[in-house]
Order: sequence, then C-alpha cells, then structure tokens
Amino acid sequence: MPKYIWKSISDLADDVKSGKTTATELVEKSLELIEENEEFKPIIAVIKDGSLKRAKEIDSAIKSGKKVGRLAGVPFIAKDNFLVYGADTTAASNILKGFDAPYQSTAINKLEAEGAICVAKANLDAFAHGSSTENSDFFTTLNPHDKTRVPGGSSGGSAASVALSLAPFSLGSDTGGSIRQPASFCGVVGLKPTYGIVGRSGVVAMGSSLDVIGPIAKNVEDAATVLDVISGKDGLDMTMIDRDKESYSKLDKTIKGKKIGLIKEYMDESVDPEVIKVIKESVDKLVASGAIVEEVSLPLSKLGLPAYYILCPAEVSSNLSRYDGQRYGYSYKDAKDLSESYMLSRDVGFGDEAKRRIMIGTYVLSSGYYDAYYKKAQVVRTKIIEESDKAFSKFDFLVGPTTPTTAFKIGDKTGDPISMYLSDLMTVTANLTGCPSMSIPAGEAQGLPVGIQIIAAQRKDRELLGFAKGFEELN
Ligand code: GLN
Repeated sequence: MPKYIWKSISDLADDVKSGKTTATELVEKSLELIEENEEFKPIIAVIKDGSLKRAKEIDSAIKSGKKVGRLAGVPFIAKDNFLVYGADTTAASNILKGFDAPYQSTAINKLEAEGAICVAKANLDAFAHGSSTENSDFFTTLNPHDKTRVPGGSSGGSAASVALSLAPFSLGSDTGGSIRQPASFCGVVGLKPTYGIVGRSGVVAMGSSLDVIGPIAKNVEDAATVLDVISGKDGLDMTMIDRDKESYSKLDKTIKGKKIGLIKEYMDESVDPEVIKVIKESVDKLVASGAIVEEVSLPLSKLGLPAYYILCPAEVSSNLSRYDGQRYGYSYKDAKDLSESYMLSRDVGFGDEAKRRIMIGTYVLSSGYYDAYYKKAQVVRTKIIEESDKAFSKFDFLVGPTTPTTAFKIGDKTGDPISMYLSDLMTVTANLTGCPSMSIPAGEAQGLPVGIQIIAAQRKDRELLGFAKGFEELN
C-alpha cells in the first residue's frame, strides 16, 4: 500500500518555512504520486499548472522574507463538489461537465490563505448521492486495500487519495456519512464537524440542512489542523454558528474517567460479527485506559435512516432544480422550446440516482403527501435530536462501528438502492442531529480496515478530536 509517508501537516509547513524543503518539491511529489496511482482512479482532474504556480509564489515569498501561512506549501485534494479555480467543478455529474466555477468555495479560500495548495479534484458519487463512488457518472474509484472493492462514498476519491498518500489530506462533504463511511472503508481518519461551524459556500449543495464539510487525513492531529483552518465565519453562508474560540489543535487526550456510551442498536446481529469484534476490542482498550463504558440504547436511531431518506431527497429535489440547462452546465442542443430544453437537459444530464432522489423528494413534498411523509420525518428528526441530547446528558461520547460491514465488492449493491442506503445506517443520525462525529481506524477484518465511530454533543469538536487522539495512541 502507501509507498510514501508524509510528515504531519504542521511539520511539512515548518519544513517549507525553514527552507528544509520547498512548496514546489511538495507539490511535485504529490503530482508524481497521483500519476503513479492512476490505476485506482481516485482523481477526476489534476490542477498541475495552477498548483505549481502557487507553490512558486510561496517559495519566493519565503525567500524574500515575507510572512506565509501555517499550511505553507502543503498540498491537498478536494472532492470535486468544491468550487476550485484551475479545474472544472463537475460533482462527478454529466450535467456539470465542463463547468468552470466563477468563484471559489470558502473552505478552499481559507486553506489557500494559509498557504495550502489544491493539487487535484477527487472522484465522488455524482452530486454526493451514494456510498461507493459507483454513482459517479464518470468511473468508479477502487479501494486501495483491495481493487475489487469500493472505497466507500460519496467522498470515495478523497478517502482513497489519503489512503494512497497522494497528499497529506483531502476535503470531503458529509450529508449522511460521506466522509466517515469511506474513511472507514479506506482505513483513514474522517471528521464530520458540528453542522454550521464550517461554511458551505461554494460547495455543490446536496441536503442543505445536513451538509457538512470536513477533512480526511492520516491521523487525528492533521484532521484537527485542517478543521482549525476551514472553520469559522463565512459571510456567504447564513446557517453558521460560532466555532470554538480555542484552537481545535489544542487537544486534551484524556481517556481516564470519560463516560462512553456504546450504542446497543449498532452492535446487533445485523452487523458483520468481524466488525463487532474489532469494536469490542477497541472498547476493551478504552476500558483498560480508564474510560467508563456503558451500553446505551438509542431506539430511535433505527428510524434515522428512513427519516433521512425522506428529508435528504426532499432537499436534493429542491437543490437540483437549478440545473435546468439554461444557466450553467449541460444544455440539450436541439430542443424545440424552453420547456423541452428543461426536460431534455435534465433527462440527459442527470444520472439514475439523481433522478430517483428528485422523484422521491418531489413526491414527499407534494401537497397530497407532505403531511404523511415530509412532516412526519421532521417530527422523527426532532425526536432523534431529543434522544441524542438525553444521551449526552449522561455520556461524554457515544461509540459504535462506522459501518455495518467492511468495504463491499464493486457491483454488489448496484441496482439495489435500498441495500446501498443501508450502509449509511450508523452515520445518518449525526447528520440529523448536527453532532460532530469521526471515523478512526480501529483494526482489520479479513485484511480490510474497520473504523470506529465516535460521536460527541454539538460544538464539542475539540473534545471529540482530543479523545480520538487519545484512542489513536492506544493502537
Ligand atoms: N450515502 C448517503 C447518501 O447516499 C450519504 C451521502 C453523503 O453523505 N453525501 O445519501
């Protein structure tokens, strides 16, 4: 597997600043690794000229004694639903093919302001709908641990990129698990921060009340560094809450005395026994380090998935209405009038999963069915939030597996959307509640990575990262 080991993000930046290495060297290394690993197909577009140009600018700023940021020269890869200069933003969809964004996403701007350099755009399920990257309109990414298996999704390209060491970190988006599930499948760290602490401007919207941007990295410390840079005010996102005033890199690794709830419903017979075994071993390690672990039952968590698959498509159907073939992206050329142009542009441009979600979403929002489906799902969401709040009045963190299985075979779930949706069983709840949640490598089952999911109460991102770091050091 990875033939190259990057130093920590902070060490890389320090090396660039002290002249031990240069931004150009780091970017060239990343570009070389991307080329060497093409067979895994994690990347949609490489930003070669743009990234080398930025690296040169940083190097000459350092040479002339100018101040550079805390991520000076560090290369990274963004999921292709982030608007980035220097490459098209396609969201892995045919309807956005060739779309050259006129502005850049806030998260990318914040990283660039600190000197980080985006070298490539990673593959995903089109519009982030999916759990395997098989819904990409272009190609499927292969799991770095086993080429016959999926890397997870929708941020599969971002997770595979980090597992392959193409760059020290990548960015993903998580609407129902899309950072944590692929991180678990690829054996890397994935963080979904609290909803609203990272601005969403310039990221192709999926389900706006659920979408969260976060890092995928090799270790917890790097994930914390990235969160510290990308979080905080985004004048273009009206749904934000204040971030922690303290740096997210200031981590308290204490495990002793922490109260942990092991989620009963995520440890039942529907979960692969090999996965359960790894999680139980992790729990034993936590107990041996002084954590107080108790089983906690969250009966409503089982309703998370059905509620999510009503609320998410409802928001998807609204967000995707802007792709009408007139304003940007693909437009059907031979339509006889405007109405036919809308229809045929969307018909040809959208893939099956986008169409499925548009239809489900439109249905549950329609006047005859709104009360029966959408409104009920919102009530369920509120009840789930109450259940989660109650659990966090007793526990510091909730833990369980990130996914019910390890990475599945390519093709195993295609044509069976329900079974694909079931792989989100354990991740969607944290999106419905807005709570921060991480997947950390916990072990292996039959040679494939297994991730443990750690969830904290809203705004406890720093505490979550600290505890995760403590856990990481036990392995
Ligand atoms: N797999 C989930 C879905 O298809 C989550 C996707 C996501 O988080 N973007 O909706």
